[in-house]
Amino acid sequence: MKVREILMGAALLSLALNTIAENPLPLMADVEIFPLATNRTLEPSALPLVLEDDVFSSAYYDTLAILGTENRCSKFFGGPPTVDIFNQIIAKMRKDYFSANVGIRMSGTTVTVHDFQTNKAYRLFEKVIINGNGPFYRSRYPDSASLPGIGTYGPDTREARVLMLLHELGHTIKSDDGKWLLPDDGGDDSLSRRNSMKIEKVCGEEISNRSRVEGKTEETAKASPL
Ligand SMILES: [Zn+2]
Repeated sequence: MKVREILMGAALLSLALNTIAENPLPLMADVEIFPLATNRTLEPSALPLVLEDDVFSSAYYDTLAILGTENRCSKFFGGPPTVDIFNQIIAKMRKDYFSANVGIRMSGTTVTVHDFQTNKAYRLFEKVIINGNGPFYRSRYPDSASLPGIGTYGPDTREARVLMLLHELGHTIKSDDGKWLLPDDGGDDSLSRRNSMKIEKVCGEEISNRSRVEGKTEETAKASPL
């Protein structure tokens, strides 16, 4: 009898723990977490678009090369820890097809992370969708009119793709003054364009350098069927 009571107690305890594990976060619009360590290294398999999509993969590695080295652009985003944040965004990114003038859309619940190791704060959106109809992949609307460029770069160019990825990164990182590097611009085309220009001003030189250094990568990526 005594053994049975102990077993019952253990079962109840384990039930309580399960309930907690199934509801780890309250459903709120903005959840703050304080991780002990965020120095994760993501396996390539955690980045599905990098594996499956040659055009995307090329833009990803271009951006990584800029963020992973010391330059004005990587410094603007906060230096080496930014690579980890960028990878977390890319791990969430999926491809979909919608209104052509949107390049990448981040939406849904956000999780704000305070990383005490790097003393950086950033947020991750629940959904990060890259538009297969938009300027990342296409230069024209379905009716064949030209899509607007990104910054001073034409749509569907290597430079525009890197600028688009850096633009989204700008929405996720908090600057030292407590504001996001780029203000929210959902539904505001004019602010979105200004945000792209702001990033191009800081990163334009590095973005153009990538194309000069390895001009062949773009040809390879463009020649691959999607
Ligand atoms: Zn934006």
